[in-house]
Amino acid sequence: MNGAYGRRMGQIADYYNIVHVDLEFAEDEPVTLEKVLTVLDDHPEVTHFATVHCETTTGILNPIDAIIPAVHARGVVTIVDAMSSFGGVPIDTAALGLDYLISSSNKCIQGVPGFGFIIANRTALARTEGNARSLSLDLYDQNQSFNQQHGKWRFTSPTHVLYAFHQALQELAAEGGVPARFARYTRSEHQLRQGMLALGYAPVIAEADQSPIITSFKYPSAAFDFHAFYAYLKDRGFIIYPGKVSTIDSFRIGNIGEVYTGDIQQLLRWIKTYSTVRVQSGRKID
Ligand SMILES: *Cc1c(COP(=O)(O)O)cnc(C)c1O
Repeated sequence: MNGAYGRRMGQIADYYNIVHVDLEFAEDEPVTLEKVLTVLDDHPEVTHFATVHCETTTGILNPIDAIIPAVHARGVVTIVDAMSSFGGVPIDTAALGLDYLISSSNKCIQGVPGFGFIIANRTALARTEGNARSLSLDLYDQNQSFNQQHGKWRFTSPTHVLYAFHQALQELAAEGGVPARFARYTRSEHQLRQGMLALGYAPVIAEADQSPIITSFKYPSAAFDFHAFYAYLKDRGFIIYPGKVSTIDSFRIGNIGEVYTGDIQQLLRWIKTYSTVRVQSGRKID
């Protein structure tokens, strides 16, 4: 756990009375293979391992390419919350030995919100018959229904969302697939990061650990008024996010979706205007 979504996994497990061992990191620090292996050594009873790929709390990217194969090699079932990375960051589930990848319609796939999906290793999934603690989240049963009833959902399917998802997948393919989207997000992130640094806004996450999805920036001063900054940008067509880091005053800027170089450039222009007039001279503008 190195953020809100890792902690949420713990909360989900608590609701289902699933015993779990929490390995906690600071929110600006990536999950490391070394510490994961140490905990697994200390807890040979552990059967499943779960982590978050892009921790959207900060925008840090956890190194699943190093962690998952090593955990898988120990015979532990591997689960990754790839909610905010799948579709925008290449992930080779088979090569990693990743048993379950969880994501949703509305982040890097750029569809509308409405359903989550899981990419599962069939062999691992076949072993889960009768395991589910929840009827609606019985993945094995849902998969049986898909396979035996020509793709039928067990309960009412989110039809409109699926049509939107289908369209989003076509748009992803037209863009050049995941590698092209990853390249666009990466370009935007670098442009944003460099531009913000030049304006005096320091990123929370070290460049080596930064995802191309969302970036956290520290408040430039203790007097920084996030709400005024937010409102100023919102009035000009840009919505940013409040920070989610527990120990650092920060805000976040995401660049997934239909966001291109020109958008980042325009955003940086507004932030520059705001920063020079309002933050540095203390003069009010609106
Ligand atoms: C957005 C997100 C979630 C939660 O998604 P909901 O659709 O709000 O349930 C979980 N994990 C990560 C890493 C996310 O970015």
